[in-house]
Amino acid sequence: MRNKISIELAGRVKNLPPYLFAAIDIMKQEALSKGIDVIDLSIGDPDTPTPRNIVESMRKAVKNPAHHQYPSYSGMLSFRQAVAGWYKKRFNVTLDAGTEVLSLIGSKEGIGHIPLAFVNPGDVVLVPSPGYPVYPVATLFAGGASHVMPLLEKNGYLPDLKTIPAGVLKKAKLMFVNYPNNPTSACAGMAFYKDVVSFAAKNNIIVCHDAAYSEVYYDDKKPLSFLQIPGAKDVGIEFHSLSKTYNMTGWRIGFAVGNKDVIAGLGKIKTNLDSGIFQAVQEAGIEAINTDDAVLKKIRDMYQGRRDALCDGLKKLGLSLDKPKASFYLWVKCPKGHSSMDFTVHLLNNAGVLSTPGNGFGAPGEGYIRFALTVPVKRIKEAVERIGKIL
Ligand SMILES: *Cc1c(COP(=O)(O)O)cnc(C)c1O
Repeated sequence: MRNKISIELAGRVKNLPPYLFAAIDIMKQEALSKGIDVIDLSIGDPDTPTPRNIVESMRKAVKNPAHHQYPSYSGMLSFRQAVAGWYKKRFNVTLDAGTEVLSLIGSKEGIGHIPLAFVNPGDVVLVPSPGYPVYPVATLFAGGASHVMPLLEKNGYLPDLKTIPAGVLKKAKLMFVNYPNNPTSACAGMAFYKDVVSFAAKNNIIVCHDAAYSEVYYDDKKPLSFLQIPGAKDVGIEFHSLSKTYNMTGWRIGFAVGNKDVIAGLGKIKTNLDSGIFQAVQEAGIEAINTDDAVLKKIRDMYQGRRDALCDGLKKLGLSLDKPKASFYLWVKCPKGHSSMDFTVHLLNNAGVLSTPGNGFGAPGEGYIRFALTVPVKRIKEAVERIGKIL
């Protein structure tokens, strides 16, 4: 006789919001099995390889036995010094590599863990919506409650801080902000960040700025760092990823920088949960951070060509969208009468073009779809042609 136990998921897992993207994946598989040639513009993952200098540095580092042991918790000092050096050069922001820089197993890891360090049950976290799904989920896992800050077209996809109720502000412990933004591709200027700094200081809220796309920009217009704003280091930190900048999504390396108490809190959680990043990957990370800008410019130019092809093509077809200044996403309004989901399904089934429904990033994303510029120009032009035939 076998004794069966009843296996029940914990409430925090049962309470996860439905994962819309899983449904999209099933639809994609169905289309592929019907023999449809799917042009997949749904994936936020660079399609070109990691630059050669970075791969070479990994090849050398992996042979070094010193890297075969446990890494240090907060990251190799040499990696954190490379980060500090890059911050000085790129943003003219001074960081102490010892206390104001923490290496992460991809920025998702840090974003996912930070609420555990600062959020108690009953505390509120301010999350942008549409937005990266990890912000509300990490909040939920820590027992906190998300308060949605809608990102609306009429506000340039910036949250309207004045509309957050006083009762919410009292309980708010932390806020997530993300520019250049995924999924809307909006950028934030100095004035907005200044508002965020004074808002956070006044209401005693920790700011977590997700800057994953700070180096994916167009027309040589460089996005700002949150830490360039006077007083920013007193209220928060900034998350960075090597994933999008250097085509390194598979390597799992990123970092957080800024307020040393916030960095220490996140570090404390990590010390108890993980044991850092493989040091050979950190060596490759140092090489990545010091990559010649000519290499990065090539990658940016490639995305810019794709952006122009898709943006101009879709505009000619009468679709409504803003040309992104940064990130590799296009945020496109659905034609009248279409919801995010049925426009996505229409494009997939009738044009073989896969997008991401905007409402998958949160309810305020309803009425939009997101295209990612992660296929070559030739395929993008074909996608535009096919969409033209079915609109
Ligand atoms: C891709 C992405 C990240 C996470 O990147 P990592 O690979 O975990 O470093 C974080 N935030 C946003 C908005 C992203 O799009």
